[in-house]
Amino acid sequence: MTNDVTRGVQDNLFIGGRLRPAHSVTRIPVIDPATEQAFAAIPDADTVDVDDAVRAATSAFRDSGWAELDPAERAEYLRRLAELIESRGEELGRVVTAQNGMPLANSIAGNGAAAAGYYRYFAGLADELEPETERSGRGARTVVRQEPVGVAALIVPWNGPQGAIAWKLAPALAAGCTAVVKPAPETSLDSYILAELVSQAGIPPGVVNIITGGRETGATLVSHPGIRKVAFTGSTAAGRKVALACAEGFKRVTLELGGKSAALLLDDVDVSAFLPFVASACAPFSGQICRALTRVLAPRSRYDEVVDAIVSAMGDLTVGHPLDPATQLGPLVSERQRTRVEDYIRSGREQGAKVVLGGSRPPGFETGYYVEPTVFRDADNNMRIAREEIFGPVLTVIPFDDDDDAIRICNDSDYGLGGAIFTSDADRGFALARRVESGSVGVNHYALPLDAPFGGVKNSGIGRELGPEGLAAYLETKAIYHPPAA
Ligand code: NAD
Repeated sequence: MTNDVTRGVQDNLFIGGRLRPAHSVTRIPVIDPATEQAFAAIPDADTVDVDDAVRAATSAFRDSGWAELDPAERAEYLRRLAELIESRGEELGRVVTAQNGMPLANSIAGNGAAAAGYYRYFAGLADELEPETERSGRGARTVVRQEPVGVAALIVPWNGPQGAIAWKLAPALAAGCTAVVKPAPETSLDSYILAELVSQAGIPPGVVNIITGGRETGATLVSHPGIRKVAFTGSTAAGRKVALACAEGFKRVTLELGGKSAALLLDDVDVSAFLPFVASACAPFSGQICRALTRVLAPRSRYDEVVDAIVSAMGDLTVGHPLDPATQLGPLVSERQRTRVEDYIRSGREQGAKVVLGGSRPPGFETGYYVEPTVFRDADNNMRIAREEIFGPVLTVIPFDDDDDAIRICNDSDYGLGGAIFTSDADRGFALARRVESGSVGVNHYALPLDAPFGGVKNSGIGRELGPEGLAAYLETKAIYHPPAA
């Protein structure tokens, strides 16, 4: 056993305010995707561990006084946690990069300052939260209470672990819920640091519990009768199972699932103004971001120009080791993920699209799960590369005839998570944005504001995170009514 959370075999889980040995003796290796070497292992929590964590969260919900605190007092804990996360941002970023291969600067920003920002944002909403409001009429006075839902299960994927946890844990804590967090097995080590910071912030024991493990652990947690709310981010296939399990137990559920979001470049677009979005919005973290704009819809009249510009922008991305500051595109998270991306590239070719950039493993990167930045042209919206989530650095450029055709292609998707419209005429872009079937759409912009609700329609999920809507997901409404005073 080691206390170094960045390497070695971890034997502990964070339950009831302390690290304690897991009941499970099974360990899951943690692999550095840049070296393909296992450098740590984490417990694969079993049913006893899950039950312990849910019991700890349940007794903290009932007995610690957390749920009854004034929301503004809970906000102070969130702000302390935010400070601590920010102060350890570099370390969090490094630990995440070692596990998922995200270029270091992005990882430090996403798992440090950005994660801290979410806790601060929800602290601000907690300050404004009025737990009780009064209504009168029809012969009664009613006190409407906003109460915390109860124990929340928070399950996240590997692509931005501390940000994804913060999207859930911050509103859960602000609302007065207690929580059991389950990070992805690929990226659990950073959550040992979170556990330490939760304790340092003085959050009462049992309010936050963190257990590690794979899909069985997640499924056991979701089905546990002590859980009243599930917030899940992950694949659509797993989300469907989570939804079914929640239906069985009538649990509140938020699902942030996959996407195949479109960038619509209208015929008046200034292509040079769009190009900076190729790295940041179309292929961020090698395309392993759910809202990445991986379908580019280009006007037929300017198709070659757009394809050439995208090829040039994707071709300029620097592939390298994720710890190298020059790197924009590191390895994919796992061998399984690389195999999946390579299968999609093969299927695109087989279905008649043309690879105009990349399509293979980059020369000189024989070790590590690297795939070249890849662009397909002459694709249509019925191909698998246009319909399914690839989760790799692969862009599919599809031509359209006019605005109506662009919207038809954009909405002809099983997914509806993000999307963006690029145009020289913002009003025209805004009008078209209203017609896009997705949870959020950018117009000449693709950085998500903290107060903008985020989530999907169709197979991209149910419910919203961030914004006041993100807090509401952890609140239950109760009416207490009584006769009016005589
Ligand atoms: P995944 O669904 O395999 O796993 C995600 C998490 O769920 C992990 O912690 C995993 O252990 C757990 N899990 C898996 N099956 C489960 C089950 N049946 N019950 C409970 N928990 C279960 O996804 P992944 O491959 O780790 O992540 C990639 C996926 O996540 C992509 O599809 C991506 O689009 C999606 N994602 C969505 C968003 C969003 O906000 N919409 C953000 C990031 C990632």
